[in-house]
Amino acid sequence: MKTLRALVTGGVGFLGSHLCDALLGEGYRVVAADNLLTGRLANIEHLRNDSRFEFVEKDVCEAGEWGAFDYVFHFASPASPVDYAAHGIETLRVGSYGTFEALETARRCGAKFMMASTSECYGDPLVHPQTESYWGNVNPIGPRSVYDEAKRFSEAVTMAYHRYHRVDTRIVRIFNTYGPRMQINDGRVIPNFMWQALRGQNLTVYGDGSQTRSFCYVSDEVDGILRLARSSDLEHEPVNIGNPTEFTILECARQVMATTGSASEIQFEALPQDDPKQRCPDISKAKRLLGWEPKVELASGLKLSLEYFRRVVAEKERVA
Ligand code: UDP
Repeated sequence: MKTLRALVTGGVGFLGSHLCDALLGEGYRVVAADNLLTGRLANIEHLRNDSRFEFVEKDVCEAGEWGAFDYVFHFASPASPVDYAAHGIETLRVGSYGTFEALETARRCGAKFMMASTSECYGDPLVHPQTESYWGNVNPIGPRSVYDEAKRFSEAVTMAYHRYHRVDTRIVRIFNTYGPRMQINDGRVIPNFMWQALRGQNLTVYGDGSQTRSFCYVSDEVDGILRLARSSDLEHEPVNIGNPTEFTILECARQVMATTGSASEIQFEALPQDDPKQRCPDISKAKRLLGWEPKVELASGLKLSLEYFRRVVAEKERVA
């Protein structure tokens, strides 16, 4: 039987590297491409001797031949608010030029294509929970717009390649995902709270902590992504993959404190501009189409992540 080949752009990022592992587990040969702007080689260290895996240091925005693939997963992009604020232009470039290049690669070799989109497409949503049919409430010129609009444009390009070039495309709208391999300093709420709790520092809750998020453990997220990737050529429109259990950020802080056994206190800080007040996926479509729903509750997922975060904190403290 022919071995399938997958290209994963952003393949050494947090989610991209977990996707590479899962694809290798499915029997794929995998090429991970990444320009290492926010991805880290440590995330693929364990694959160093796997002959079915290859890492290519390359910017997906650069035109060129990437080889022949059966599936192209376009996961390259800074993804945390701190990272895309620091790399705004690069974020817009990878969502535009990068998406064109990744789609051209898929078109040239007749590969299927999946674009990693985001719940940020819904902006600060006025519909709750968010269904895929909701068009969103995005500030097109605010500080988050470099990411939100890049991803919305990326969705538009992906749909256009499907409509005009008949590329077999999928769009996954990924909601807040967490787990091992997250960068401790990428500014996202769970690594921030873990870092602070494990070092006995106060947990920085932005605003009054009443804003909500729904946190999906990485193994659930990857399972949903793979199911969508494997699904028949019927659904080209976006599919939400995220955990529908909603927490306030204050509740999230308390869960991290309980998991780590920390005696830290809460310290309230200013809410960043355009910070969405609520976010929760409606996953009816994923349930219906893919038979998928997440299994790991926040308390269990935090426990599963604890060893990783402990190790990273210890390493950073040793170096400091
Ligand atoms: N947040 C917080 N303290 C932190 C980091 C984040 O209160 O140290 C809040 C942030 O304002 C947002 C939520 O946690 O309301 C989730 O932030 P994150 O950066 O993880 O991702 P987002 O969902 O905003 O993209």
